[in-house]
Amino acid sequence: LSRLRQALQDVNLEALVVRGRVNMRYLTGFLDVFDSGFSGSLAVTADRAVILTDDRYSQQMGERAEDTEFEVVSEPGHHLEALGRLLRKLQVGYAGVEDSIPVAAYERLKKEYGKTIRPVTSPVEALRCIKEPEEIAAITRACVLADRALAHVLPAIGAGASTKSLALDMEWFMRTHGASDVAFDLIVASGARSAMPHAVTVEQKIEEGDLVKVDIGAVVEDYCSDMTRTFVAGEANDTQREIYEAVLSAQRLALDQAGPGMGCATLDLVARRRLEELGFGERFGHGLGHGVGLEVHERPALSRLSRDVLEPGMVVTIEPGVYLPGLGGVRIEDLVVVEEDGVRNLTKSEKKLQLS
Ligand code: ZN
Ligand code: ZN
Repeated sequence: LSRLRQALQDVNLEALVVRGRVNMRYLTGFLDVFDSGFSGSLAVTADRAVILTDDRYSQQMGERAEDTEFEVVSEPGHHLEALGRLLRKLQVGYAGVEDSIPVAAYERLKKEYGKTIRPVTSPVEALRCIKEPEEIAAITRACVLADRALAHVLPAIGAGASTKSLALDMEWFMRTHGASDVAFDLIVASGARSAMPHAVTVEQKIEEGDLVKVDIGAVVEDYCSDMTRTFVAGEANDTQREIYEAVLSAQRLALDQAGPGMGCATLDLVARRRLEELGFGERFGHGLGHGVGLEVHERPALSRLSRDVLEPGMVVTIEPGVYLPGLGGVRIEDLVVVEEDGVRNLTKSEKKLQLS
């Protein structure tokens, strides 16, 4: 909250209306109350932080808010009307509202408030880039669960196995070992489908010689993990070995060079150049990685267009990939935390193409 207030001062705003559920969860730290049905707003001024919601949530919120800086106000009736009234009561001048607000809601709020309010790029997402130790601890636990879930199904990955069953087995494992959810629909894609970077897991039987791409993540205390491993069912052929080694070498290089002060675009380029040298530059179609936290994709972006620079406390994936349409794809993805002297890898699963 104090970091947010500083950020508001820097852009001359007296108040910010936070509408994003994840941003509210981040600022308040309240666990288990911002479910997917939550509706409400959080108004932050220089000295107050008021959550406006309705009686579906106010009791639970009120309990969480005890002994915190947050006040919970429950108003029946139209939310935007109540929000306009609240802002007038808080006596702020220039207010910003997160620009994720729907246009119609924004127009209504402007009318209800009657003073100056404008949509702003939320400063909260920039704050979320730098993780506190408790956040890194939750992400680490989510990584451990993903590692364990993969180890749990590893013996079953082979010709004849069902990709959908493997995905469900890993989800079951994570959710029965401490995860509240999966971070995204788990991906197990084999054969030609592995060439799609974000393949949806469909019912498919793994065939001898297929590449099998496994991309999984757990949610622990609202924080996500994200990792990818690629295997071959049976004996790898020369092409499979070649692309696997290329991706691994690009990933190792990026892991080595990542650290505070490194531009996210530059790091992307480091991995991209290596794949270009090895003849696969054209086959690496996505960015090198992304931030992970309360959301599985958040800032910073590790891509050619990114202007972010790595700083201690950032948690990002490093995930180069090479995809050959018709043949299959290889991606290797680790989640790392940026520290003073480089990065610490939170993903412990072994990297090997051949299962036996
Ligand atoms: Zn992933
Ligand atoms: Zn990822």
